[in-house]
Amino acid sequence: MPDRHLLILRDVLVPRVLVSDPRSFGGRLDGSCLRGDLHADGARVRLHISAASDAPRLVIPALVEPHCHLDKCHSIARMVDVGGDLSQALARQRQDKLNWTEADLIARATRGLNEAAAAGCFALRTHVDWGDPAAPPLAWSVLNGLKQDSPLNVHCAALTSVEHMADPAYCDAVAGHVAQANGALGAFIHGQPDIAPAIANMFDAATRFGLPLDFHVDETLEPLSGLEAIADAAIACGFEGPVLCGHAVALINDEGDALARLLGKLRRARITVCALPTTNLYLQGRVAGTPERRGLTRLRELRAAGVPVIVGSDNVGDAFCPLGQHDPMAALSLTVLAAHLDPPFEQWLSMVTTDAAAAIGIPPPFVDQTSVENLKVSAAQTLPDLLAGRAPLSALLRPF
Ligand SMILES: [Zn+2]
Repeated sequence: MPDRHLLILRDVLVPRVLVSDPRSFGGRLDGSCLRGDLHADGARVRLHISAASDAPRLVIPALVEPHCHLDKCHSIARMVDVGGDLSQALARQRQDKLNWTEADLIARATRGLNEAAAAGCFALRTHVDWGDPAAPPLAWSVLNGLKQDSPLNVHCAALTSVEHMADPAYCDAVAGHVAQANGALGAFIHGQPDIAPAIANMFDAATRFGLPLDFHVDETLEPLSGLEAIADAAIACGFEGPVLCGHAVALINDEGDALARLLGKLRRARITVCALPTTNLYLQGRVAGTPERRGLTRLRELRAAGVPVIVGSDNVGDAFCPLGQHDPMAALSLTVLAAHLDPPFEQWLSMVTTDAAAAIGIPPPFVDQTSVENLKVSAAQTLPDLLAGRAPLSALLRPF
């Protein structure tokens, strides 16, 4: 049996972009990876140069799921007459909420959490629909209860409708509940008129309560300007906490100088944009026949402009997406195809690891900085094999 304080994994490849200090990490350069024997001694993880084998394995940090909906997931089987655009999905989900008892929520959300853990996640943010009253809905209590027993670092984000946030008393009441749960304050922004005061209230409350912000914004191929309103509010108040904007599909309508100006604002506001391809490809661009325009934000332009981009699983088996998986690597794989995120894939791994962690307000899990419990190993020998799901991620910390 190996000394339990010294764990050695022979001949591994670690993507260099996932190491914060490659020079002191050790190993030798092999393509875009550092290669060697991995030694984990307490909290210290380093590579020692060694003879190469025929079967190196990849080591990466555990993944971050930055955007999902555990209150809605796995409800599709009991729905009838599903399919259609976002408004139809909202209507079907509203009907299904009659089934959201405590036992039902626990069963479906537990299934989702187990799936995320099996996919290699160590942290997860789930949105929770917040109704008309400022008091927390049942799902908020259930999910915050489940997270106590989960091996994952679970964060809940309150998903309110932005017009409610125009009332400072409502906004503060929700922010207070969110702060108690160490969660995130969020809203659904979808072309409602005069949203600037509501967004300003949210930034003000988030500053006073020390909360991260998370928006569902411009989830449509029609032109909308919610994303710019959020950036303006963040810049106006100098907000320092993380701001995550999910969807931003309407950004695809902007180009040229207007796009460059907006991208500059997003960078100054230090906003991260989260692509959610499963739901957006399924709901957006609906026509009578085969879709001609596909729902996706401007990932390549955002990245080129210095705006962090990440990707999440979003809806899984519900009215918004009848398929899907709680698996960020699967979401990244789909995004590679949908958004033409070309190799080398090392440049996109931050979307499900380091940048995703920063976007939800937790330390980026660089391999040489995170705990060994948060490292994963795969028999995949290349990043294309890893992203294609040809070999699963499994825990590194186990007897071998
Ligand atoms: Zn969502």
